[in-house]
Amino acid sequence: MRLRNIKGSKEMVANSEFVIQEPKQYKGKWHSLFGNQNPIHIEIGMGKGKFIMEQAIRNPNINYIGIEKYSSVLLRALQKREECELENLYFIRYDAEYINDIFDVEEIERIYLNFSDPWPKERHAKRRLTSKEFLNRYHHFLKKDGLVVFKTDNRELFDFSVEEVKEAGWKMKDITYDLHKSEYFDGNIMTEYEEKFVAEGKPIHRFTIYRN
Ligand code: SAM
Repeated sequence: MRLRNIKGSKEMVANSEFVIQEPKQYKGKWHSLFGNQNPIHIEIGMGKGKFIMEQAIRNPNINYIGIEKYSSVLLRALQKREECELENLYFIRYDAEYINDIFDVEEIERIYLNFSDPWPKERHAKRRLTSKEFLNRYHHFLKKDGLVVFKTDNRELFDFSVEEVKEAGWKMKDITYDLHKSEYFDGNIMTEYEEKFVAEGKPIHRFTIYRN
């Protein structure tokens, strides 16, 4: 998702108390930002932030970091964030390709990937957030018993991801090709994209993966 450039969005993101401006400085020290030792969950490509904000509200004992590449999109999340009194949620405007520069070994307990951009051209496969290249990056900073949870409406991207997971040596559980009609639906939080696709009658695919 790339919203049209919104005038002033860069400045608003740069001045927000909820956006970590120099995330590299927190590498290995993210718990100090939250002032506790609670687990840290991240969402990569969070878009307008509905999912991660609802997670943060439901789970005050978990710390959340939402990562989004574009200021124009992150701004939408910020507008919602400002209406909530939450101490467990921060945002980063950042390209996840360089995610190993901001998180250290075993720092993160869970990664959410929701409706990630499909990058349909084969030559762009490495940009998909579930490619082997990205899975190897996640392996570096995910805790040993940590999880990556991925959902999408895109069957091609899902099938590609299942193959990449095997090749990269991860294990899979709780796979479903129709989340909303499955035993795993309980507790599901819908993202902005999910609401749109579900309204169109599309099934949602989801898997959870881990290393050990
Ligand atoms: N997760 C949201 C949802 O489900 O409603 C948004 C889905 S949207 C299709 C994908 C989002 O991921 C976009 O906002 C895009 O800017 C962001 N994104 C794509 N590649 C990224 C990257 N390498 N690093 C950070 N964000 C990225």
